[in-house]
Amino acid sequence: MARKLWRFHGGLRLPGYKAISTARDAVPARLPRHLVLPLTQHIGEPAEPVVAVGDQVLKGQLIARADGYVSAPVHASSSGRVVAIEERPIPHPSGLTAPCIVIETDGRETWAPLTLHLDYADMDPSALRNLIREAGIVGLGGAGFPSYIKLNPGPGHKVDTLILNGAECEPYITCDDMLMRQRAREILQGMTIMRHALQAKQCLIGIEDNKPEAIAAMRAAVKALGIEQVEVVVIPTIYPAGGEKQLIKTLTGLEVPSNGLPIDVGVVCHNVGTAASVYWAVIWGEPLTSRFVTVTGDGVAAPRNLEVLIGTPVQDLIEEVGGARPGLRLIMGGPMMGFTLSGADVPVVKATNCILVAGPQVVGDPPPPMPCIRCGACTDVCPAQLLPQQLYWYARAKDFDKVQDHNLYDCIECGLCAYVCPSNIPLVQYFRYAKTEIWARERDQQKADLARRRHEFRLERLEREKAEREARHRQKKAGVSDAAGDDKQAAIKAAVERARRKREAAAPLGGADSAPATSDPATPAQDDQKE
Ligand code: SF4
Ligand code: SF4
Repeated sequence: MARKLWRFHGGLRLPGYKAISTARDAVPARLPRHLVLPLTQHIGEPAEPVVAVGDQVLKGQLIARADGYVSAPVHASSSGRVVAIEERPIPHPSGLTAPCIVIETDGRETWAPLTLHLDYADMDPSALRNLIREAGIVGLGGAGFPSYIKLNPGPGHKVDTLILNGAECEPYITCDDMLMRQRAREILQGMTIMRHALQAKQCLIGIEDNKPEAIAAMRAAVKALGIEQVEVVVIPTIYPAGGEKQLIKTLTGLEVPSNGLPIDVGVVCHNVGTAASVYWAVIWGEPLTSRFVTVTGDGVAAPRNLEVLIGTPVQDLIEEVGGARPGLRLIMGGPMMGFTLSGADVPVVKATNCILVAGPQVVGDPPPPMPCIRCGACTDVCPAQLLPQQLYWYARAKDFDKVQDHNLYDCIECGLCAYVCPSNIPLVQYFRYAKTEIWARERDQQKADLARRRHEFRLERLEREKAEREARHRQKKAGVSDAAGDDKQAAIKAAVERARRKREAAAPLGGADSAPATSDPATPAQDDQKE
């Protein structure tokens, strides 16, 4: 019997352009001359380099270790020599530069020694999570969150369902589709490992109905591997069905609470690409060094999916698919949720799922915005059940408290509200701006709190040192007077002794006993003066 599906709020059926990049099989991309590996390829703290310029490195070798709980290590994607550790342009909406390790490849692709774990089923879930952490695996669906954290439900949480996300809802992206077609077994074996780490009862794999080949491949692999309590579920192609909360709702009917996490409803969700990486990391000991990337758009000659080494410059990929027509816009991700790249010199990072070389008909300059007519179209389509129009007013007025009251952080930046807005208001830009401002203020507040705590700590230290100095001073003083007292006592004693000896010397031969004890009542002081 077909599984019951639920409908999430809002969403839209968007025109699809997937066929242009699925006409050819995915193949490994050419080895680039240089790999540029940013230290931040994930949500969280940047990794810390453990190599120096001039070092020879092997493929899969650790080159930057995780620095903090929410952090992921970086590994060399190929063998070669470290030629620079410096600021380079990175794929980010800001267009900023960031520290990167640059490797000149040697063309040999020589792997570092790998440790296999064919016995993972006997391993403790926490040991498994450590392997996944050490392999530098982050969410490959685009979020870039370190995966081992999502594989740790934490005390008091039980995982009922592990969901694999094969709903690739953006109109141009097909990397997960091709991965499911070509690597279905690896995905399922990775899913089994994740399930063991989570101790999850059942697994659901959600795939949109516009990917019949992927659905067939995954179902065939489930059958061939004989895995129980796993179901490949076909879901309608409604954007953004691949949003985590939307997929959970569609497959289980469960609503993840506002500001909550899937684990709050007993569910953990991972991308299919992440599952395949877990398989390579745990079974074969290979850290994350490559991923499938869709290189597509009307600006390239031969759109397709490539298996790309992390760190490969985007320019190399574009050349590999026939080069781009000049003057077109480069987008990382899809037209709905992606962002424009500052140039083709940025590298592919772990979260890169698509390079879209887009002509004006896809992402032309938007018409000028007009005043909001309060039509409510944005509210109707919002999958997070927000009020985009209200959020827009508050963000524009910089009333960030109100923006937060209206659950800004539930916004998944799907772009639907802006897509349907008849007034062409760039709503998502306002929401991103508001989020950035709130984060900046929180950071400033944290810095101010830290500075205040440091100041208080300094005052405390100065007070403590002063008190200690005074105590030492008092102690010293007390010590001196004690010593003076001791000297006086010793002098008295010596004087008494001298007086005694004198008396004895002056005593009549008849015996000391006959002399009166007080015959010479010289005081010690007098005795002293006599000497
Ligand atoms: S869709 Fe645009 S015009 Fe309509 S209410 Fe929302 S912001 Fe206003
Ligand atoms: S971008 Fe945010 S506010 Fe707009 S429709 Fe998507 S989730 Fe809703």
